[in-house]
Amino acid sequence: LGSSLRGSLDKLSGKSRVSEDDIEEIVKEIQRSLLQADVDVSLVMELSDSIKTRALEEEPPGGTTARDHVLSIVYEELVDLVGESTDIPLENQTILLAGLQGSGKTTTAAKMAWWFSKKGLRPAVIQTDTFRPGAYDQAKEMCSRAEVDFYGNPDNDDPVDIARKGLEETADADIHIVDTAGRHALEDDLIAEIEEIEAEVDPDRNLLVLDAAIGQGAKDQAKQFDKSIGINGVVITKLDGTAKGGGALTAVNETDSSIAFLGSGETVQDVERFEPNSFISRLLGMGDLGQLTERVQRAMEETQEEEEDWDPEDMLKGQFTLKDMRHQMNAMNKMGPLDQVMDMIPGMGGGLMDELPDDAMDVTKDRMRAFEVIMDSMTESELENPRSIGASQIRRISRGSGKDEERIRELLQQHKMMSQTLKQFQGMGQGGDMERMMK
Ligand code: GDP
Ligand code: MG
Repeated sequence: LGSSLRGSLDKLSGKSRVSEDDIEEIVKEIQRSLLQADVDVSLVMELSDSIKTRALEEEPPGGTTARDHVLSIVYEELVDLVGESTDIPLENQTILLAGLQGSGKTTTAAKMAWWFSKKGLRPAVIQTDTFRPGAYDQAKEMCSRAEVDFYGNPDNDDPVDIARKGLEETADADIHIVDTAGRHALEDDLIAEIEEIEAEVDPDRNLLVLDAAIGQGAKDQAKQFDKSIGINGVVITKLDGTAKGGGALTAVNETDSSIAFLGSGETVQDVERFEPNSFISRLLGMGDLGQLTERVQRAMEETQEEEEDWDPEDMLKGQFTLKDMRHQMNAMNKMGPLDQVMDMIPGMGGGLMDELPDDAMDVTKDRMRAFEVIMDSMTESELENPRSIGASQIRRISRGSGKDEERIRELLQQHKMMSQTLKQFQGMGQGGDMERMMK
């Protein structure tokens, strides 16, 4: 993905607006990686539609490049799709784990208990699996490794009775995590059993545990468990493998819930709270999109505070002045050193920058800095109307700024190019149409 998405994004560089073709291409790349990550086709299509619509209809905020604007939209829409983390308050509660055999429930029970204990709470795991031989020993051992309370009884074959006694025996604990038996497939006895346990323990949350490799099988499971006990959140396990867990999004969507925890290994410490940024980056096989988006947003806010009288729409109505150009440069500068920004752009990081000669980036940075200094030596009317700048003014500005006349011509040339690009775009619409298009 890296190179193809990079290619598509590169086409946006220097553009102030994106075309339908640009968006089509980017959306295709995103679709490809989401489908590879097992995200449901209809979810992918929904997402594609909103990205397309927004990227074409929404106005890039002042000083934001087309590429950053599109990236922000992509990111926001993905956050919308995967959702925020399930709310897990750090207070007394009972959590019931549901899922098929082998999905990782027992491991997750011990992991979550460990996680809560690190938050200063006292968790206990109650093992109600009477179906699978060895379930008791496995749970007991993991809990001792996690150093958390544990209750189970290998001689009792009534899971509801074990649950009841377990809650009594571990009454001192703050958090009760009730592990259940799975089956190889969704069977009536499994559903009946978990319904009885749920009625007995009256949990605060029911979490569905899913293997990252689940794919579209997630749909039926989610539906069934949601119907029988109600699912409040999802745990995705085995993310240390190659599967990216996109199928779990189907379960989230189906149960109208969210993701609570992620499991990424066999030890009790291999657990983390779900966090949309890194999950999305992983789904797309990309760099840290979230960080980039934050930077774009911060740059936009700062720029708006500083230049309240600057209205990007003026740029489209009238002349593109040197002030407009400066504004665009400022916004870019605020995002930090160019090479760092590039590193955060998916597909641009890791090695690519190293292949460029060092001075390739410096030239760009130097050039921007020089342009700033030059503009400081210009009069207000020169900034507003750069076309009026003739040879004698160039000499004066050069003396004032200490920059070669050549540099000043370069700046004027750059401005002219940008201005022409903008004109072409203005020519596409007619007055009112244009206005409406920009809203
Ligand atoms: P249960 O049947 O739902 O209780 O599933 P288990 O907790 O017994 O897990 C089934 C298998 O998956 C065990 O061999 C676990 O060690 C393994 N497992 C569970 N979670 C993870 C994980 O996050 N990463 C890896 N690599 N293995 C896991
Ligand atoms: Mg188990």
